[in-house]
Amino acid sequence: MYKVGIDLGGTKTEGILLDDSLNIIERKRVSTPRNNYQEIIETISNLTIDLSTNTKEFTVGICTPGAISKKTGLLKNSNTQCLIGKPLKEDLEKKLEKKILMENDANCFAIAEATMGVAKNYSFVFGVIIGTGVGGGIVINRQIHHGRTNIAGEWGHHTLHQNGKQCYCGKKGCVETYISGPALEQDWEEMTNNHKPLPEIIIDFDNPKFVQWKQEFLNNFGTGLANVIDILDPDVIVLGGGLSNIGFLYSDGIKNVYEKVFSDLVDTPILKNSLGDSAGVFGAALLN
Ligand SMILES: [Zn+2]
Repeated sequence: MYKVGIDLGGTKTEGILLDDSLNIIERKRVSTPRNNYQEIIETISNLTIDLSTNTKEFTVGICTPGAISKKTGLLKNSNTQCLIGKPLKEDLEKKLEKKILMENDANCFAIAEATMGVAKNYSFVFGVIIGTGVGGGIVINRQIHHGRTNIAGEWGHHTLHQNGKQCYCGKKGCVETYISGPALEQDWEEMTNNHKPLPEIIIDFDNPKFVQWKQEFLNNFGTGLANVIDILDPDVIVLGGGLSNIGFLYSDGIKNVYEKVFSDLVDTPILKNSLGDSAGVFGAALLN
């Protein structure tokens, strides 16, 4: 059975066709019509048809920004605004006349790294995405663990500071409001009156504010992930998203996490992903 995987991103949509040994047969990338829901449906179905032209039997998995509500079946918490409240899965199944599987980007990332990536030799994997937002996915024995209400692993909205920063989700002090890329850039701006992108901040060691900024970042990163380890105690944590490229997370960051875990025996590997931007599209294909 062949596998089609589609990664619906904010700016680009990528598709892949894998054979049953997970070899890449074909790969394609198109731009996402991000403001038009109907065009997004067309784009995904055209890409699927295109990739599967020469295959009789195939499955389809889609990686989406945002989560599907277990209550309504509608998409929520998506940064591609026109998808919010839409029955994307249902509409695509109608269009393709085929059952499909759909997961958010953190779950696709986690299953891809747990099956083909840096965590393939571990059975209990916590995959983390830290970028524009903060997400997480749990994979146990190569199966995504969704939880009773489909929110398992969503550590980005754990409360870090009870009266902290306002989050778009309605709560205050969520992990995401402290360690997402935009949150860290905002902190820097408040400290220095200077706005610059994260890749420039992390090399600005000589700035007198750098030590304080970095320490607060590490404390929040450490508390957030230590809480996850205390509850799940996974075999490995894999970091993905733009911030996974920050080198000090694998030295000072890990040290900070370990200091906060409720155990004198913590040695949980915290690893950089190995699939990079391809995790979404591989994960989508692996959903079936
Ligand atoms: Zn939140």
